[in-house]
This record gives sequence, structure tokens and C-alpha cells, in this order.
Amino acid sequence: MKITRAVLEMRAASRAARGKGQRLGLVPTMGALHEGHLALVRAAKSQCDVVAASIFVNPLQFGPSEDLSKYPRTFERDCERLEKEGVEFLFAPPVEEMYPGGARSYVNVEGLSEKLDGKSRPGHFRGVTTVVSKLFHIVEPDLAFFGQKDAAQVAIIRRMVRDLNIPAEIVVCPIVREPDGLAMSSRNAYLNGQQRKSALLLNRSLAHIRELFQRGERDGTALIAAGKHVLGEDPSVRLDYFEIVNPETLDPVAEIRQNSLVAVAAYVGTTRLIDNILLG
Ligand code: AMP
Repeated sequence: MKITRAVLEMRAASRAARGKGQRLGLVPTMGALHEGHLALVRAAKSQCDVVAASIFVNPLQFGPSEDLSKYPRTFERDCERLEKEGVEFLFAPPVEEMYPGGARSYVNVEGLSEKLDGKSRPGHFRGVTTVVSKLFHIVEPDLAFFGQKDAAQVAIIRRMVRDLNIPAEIVVCPIVREPDGLAMSSRNAYLNGQQRKSALLLNRSLAHIRELFQRGERDGTALIAAGKHVLGEDPSVRLDYFEIVNPETLDPVAEIRQNSLVAVAAYVGTTRLIDNILLG
């Protein structure tokens, strides 16, 4: 695996691969890799000739009081895991390489970026779409792989790619969970034993909603109330949002039909966790 920290070097490497007619896949990450990330890598390996992963903890998507400085960093181990999966290129630029002094341009998907996580994390999605569009310009992938874990991010990136005619196909992979149902996340590393148990309520509340839906409940307000009730069983879980939305527009839906996204975000201690399911 070739590790590159420079934009021009990464672009030259990916152009060389694509110049030989190879299909190039990109898996963007912030590192602290777990099985969820590796599932994206495996999907990329199965659909592409050459795979590039990126590790970049993007300051632009963190708010001033968020966990940028303490975000878990496990670079050596990440490299070993990516190498083992057969990744050809790892792009791991320093912050100054991605944001040279004086950078003043941003990409923002208006109307979507303020919804769900964007409501409680103002500027977060602008940071995400800015860095992902930069990665797309640097790596020029044929396919790019994202996790359904970040369902709002998926909707926003799809819209960005469509609106800006970015020639990359977006592939979305299912949420990878721990055996007990907790969605894998780099931030799970922040949880102590008790919090780790409390965190299960996110998935449980979603499972409860799915069950009610399967029994015929279609009223969004009732379903959300039932989900909130499950979360409320543990006072150490503090709700951020619980919403049922159209997975493309992220607009709330009142009467649930096919393919609605149920998304939850909650704090366990100071750790903010998210999870979601698709109904129908
Ligand atoms: P992150 O490093 O958290 O920015 O995540 C990088 C990519 O991995 C994003 O596309 C995430 O949606 C995806 N991802 C993170 N956790 C999971 C998971 N548990 N299952 C599937 N994809 C995931």
C-alpha cells in the first residue's frame, strides 16, 4: 500500500491507475477504523480494480465545542488493516495540505445541510461536503463508498454529486453492528462499560419502531413517541433528535409509507451517537 500525504502525488497515482483503464474506488474515512469502515473497503475491492482509502480528521466538520482534539487516532493500526484488505493507496494528508492558508471556498448543499445532524451541529455538513468534494477532485474516483450509518450525509453527498455533475458513482453500504446491535462507530471508544450498555437503547428504540410499523402502525408521531419512550428508560441517555424523514429530502413524513428513514441521535455522557433504520 502506497501512503501519500501530498495532493499532487495522490492525483498522479490515481490518474496513472485510471489511465491504464482501471476502475478506481475511494473510501473516505476519519481513521480509527473498525469493521464498518472495512466493510466499505471490501465493497470497494469487490467492485473496483484499484482502491484508495483516505484518512483525514477534517477540522471543518467539527464545531468549536466538539471532539476534534480528542478524536481517536490509531494511524499505525489503520494502515495495517487497510494493507491487509488489499488497499492500494492511502491518502492521509496533514491539515495544511488540505486547507492551505487563505482557503475561503466551501461547498454547501442548501436546504439539506441544516436538517437532522445539521440542526444540532451547525456547519457540520458544510465541512463534510467541502472535504468530500475536495477528495473527489484530488482522487477522481469512478466510485465512492459511504456508510448508511450516516444517512443524512448520504443524502447530502448524493445531492451534491447530482447538483455539481461530479462524475463519481456513490455506493452506500449497510450499517455494520456489534453482535448486540450497537452500530459501530469510532466514537464508541469514548464509552465506559455502563455507557456502552446505555448506548444500546438507540438500536432498541429503532427496533421497537420497526416492530410497531410491522404490526401496522403508520402514524409518524406515534412511532416517534414510542421510540422516545424506549430511550427515556435510561436517564443517562439525552435525546438530540428522533425523526422520521424522506431519505432523499430529509423532510419529516407524517404518514409513513414505503422507505422512510427513522433517524436518532442521542448523547450518552458527553458522547454523541447516531443510528437509523429504513422502514418498508
Ligand atoms: P467516519 O470515519 O466516521 O467519517 O466514517 C467513514 C465512513 O464509514 C462513512 O461513510 C461512514 O458512514 C462509514 N461508517 C462508519 N461507521 C459505519 C458502520 N457502523 N457501518 C457502515 N459504515 C460505517
